[in-house]
Amino acid sequence: KDRLFGGFRKTSERLSTNLTEVVGTAKLDDSTLDNVEDALIMSDLGPSAAARIRAKLSEKKFGLNITEIELKEAVADEIAEILRPVAVPIEITAFPRPQVLLVIGVNGSGKTTTIAKMAHLFQEDDYGVMLAAGDTFRAAAIGQLATWAERIGVPVIRGPEGGDPASIVFDGVKAATDQGIDALIVDTAGRLQNKRELMDELAKIRKVLGRLNPEAPHDVVLVLDATNGQNALAQIEVFKEIAGVTGLIMTKLDGTARGGVLVAAAEQYGLPIHAIGVGEKIDDLRPFDPDLVARVIA
Ligand code: GDP
Repeated sequence: KDRLFGGFRKTSERLSTNLTEVVGTAKLDDSTLDNVEDALIMSDLGPSAAARIRAKLSEKKFGLNITEIELKEAVADEIAEILRPVAVPIEITAFPRPQVLLVIGVNGSGKTTTIAKMAHLFQEDDYGVMLAAGDTFRAAAIGQLATWAERIGVPVIRGPEGGDPASIVFDGVKAATDQGIDALIVDTAGRLQNKRELMDELAKIRKVLGRLNPEAPHDVVLVLDATNGQNALAQIEVFKEIAGVTGLIMTKLDGTARGGVLVAAAEQYGLPIHAIGVGEKIDDLRPFDPDLVARVIA
């Protein structure tokens, strides 16, 4: 599994161990199914996905003798069923250019790093990329984004600490348009402690963008830290409400046993999952391959 996929080792071990403990009995009866369901919940897949997987297993295999390997394969199949519809990469299709991608998420979720990784992927596809440092609240965030931009060789629009994010975004769209940039990726503040303020700030950015191009922002990508487990789901709720979300990127799947939350998110929200972060390096953002991920998780 590790050869297949760098991240997810801990998640895989967690569910694997939980499922192994389940199959003491050979027959898939109600009590085994109960245990499977519990194992899935303990592995952060959430009650809804767990119930769905249980129902499918029951429908297909109730009363049959089942080995541990067969059980894991059957679970992986059902996880893949849940993940396939939400595996949607970001395509650069906006006309006129630039495509504006607003990247949102709480501080520490991996937002800045993910922006750099996304920019790198777009560059590899020969798209012109520009960054806008819209998290003006944290001087460190501006600096960090600028450092990444320099490292990968993309322009960045930035203003002073405490400056108006909407005006940075305005400047960004102008500059990107003038320079024929394909994708403008906008960093935003992530101070969820002050929800009202953040909501107003994001609304103002949206308003400014909308005046420049009614289609913008084309993407509102929520970055989630898988380490937060079920808390990541709560963040989806909040950001849906305060910012609107068109898709997700989940980070830090390399260092956590809680990667099952990806399945919970897919099942409960049905939002596109664009990519996953499996490390701190620039090329550690991977396309979201549902079948591969399902096999690694189970
Ligand atoms: P921000 O505050 O949301 O902008 O978060 P940062 O981009 O600064 O990331 C916070 C920390 O998480 C940094 O140390 C990153 O290197 C680290 N990080 C981001 N993505 C990943 C990932 O996919 N895996 C791991 N292991 N670390 C990550």
